[in-house]
Amino acid sequence: MHWTFLVLIGGIFFWHLGHGQGVAAAAQGVAFVLALFACVVLHEFGHALTARRYHIRTEDITLLPIGGVARLERMPRDPSQELWVALAGPAVNVVIAAILFILLIVLQGLGGFSNGVTLGGNFMAKLIFTNLALAAFNMLPAFPMDGGRVLRSILARRMEYVRATEIAARIGQGMAILFGFLSFLNFPNPNPFLLFIALFVFIGAQEEAQMVQITSSMRGLTVHDAMITHFRSLSAEDTLAVAVEALISSSQQDFPVLKGDEVVGVLTRNDLVKALAEGGPEIKVASVMRADCQLVTESELLEKSYEILRKDKCSTLPVVREGRLVGMITLENIAEWVMVHTALHHTPQTLQGRA
Ligand code: ZN
Repeated sequence: MHWTFLVLIGGIFFWHLGHGQGVAAAAQGVAFVLALFACVVLHEFGHALTARRYHIRTEDITLLPIGGVARLERMPRDPSQELWVALAGPAVNVVIAAILFILLIVLQGLGGFSNGVTLGGNFMAKLIFTNLALAAFNMLPAFPMDGGRVLRSILARRMEYVRATEIAARIGQGMAILFGFLSFLNFPNPNPFLLFIALFVFIGAQEEAQMVQITSSMRGLTVHDAMITHFRSLSAEDTLAVAVEALISSSQQDFPVLKGDEVVGVLTRNDLVKALAEGGPEIKVASVMRADCQLVTESELLEKSYEILRKDKCSTLPVVREGRLVGMITLENIAEWVMVHTALHHTPQTLQGRA
């Protein structure tokens, strides 16, 4: 749970009190938000449990004041699997709304429902409307909303995955621009909520398109294909003065650190500069380096290194062959590879064959 969520709860409580309402009304306001977020959690569970059916694990679910995010270890690349995973979330909200609707009718008859339409109407009726609104909002055909994924998976049945993503992202950005425009219709009092959604969607769509382009051009490639082979390494016994010389005399920023033949860590530029300021140039590299960076073997899939680099704090991964250091891999390096690959517009195999 994100800490801002607690701020939101407190804010709602005091907003009610501040508007001359009693503690009971304030508590009800908070209870409503909690119930709503329970629905958001169930929505995310809809995605996570459907993904599990396809053997995709969910790393965590984060609750933000604007909604939930389920972090799947990967997105399914099979369009029909992605379709079901994406649909499962909004479907949960529709089911919740249906169950609450039946409950409400059973408990209070149709009268209870029409009361809910008016502001401050009953709790359950409001929850039904909000669940339906959640489902509708999430089905907007724009990344990073579920509807964007639904749209892509439908497009991907007829065309290549990258192309489908590109088109879905364009449609999403078109909608974002429309939202942005609508938010300013009420000039000079633009609707901040719409404007926020517009930005959110615009950036989300762009990121998704980029991600897919990068991972798809990496498909089938190994670390060996993209690794840096001209680089300097440092010894654990070297002083920072030696590291500074290595940093200045090349464009390299991070250095693998060896003890004998064994890779024992990575010295990053930031750590080096920080340690210099704190302890001077005579400190040993061994006491400043990061010892927790993962090693990758050159025969591993490039995609896996990319995932590690994106998640880990290490900006460089040493590459080994039978335990010996043979290269390095960084995000910039992978980005360069993708740029070259895109420019050539060849299949990865062709480029690999020439290299
Ligand atoms: Zn969702």
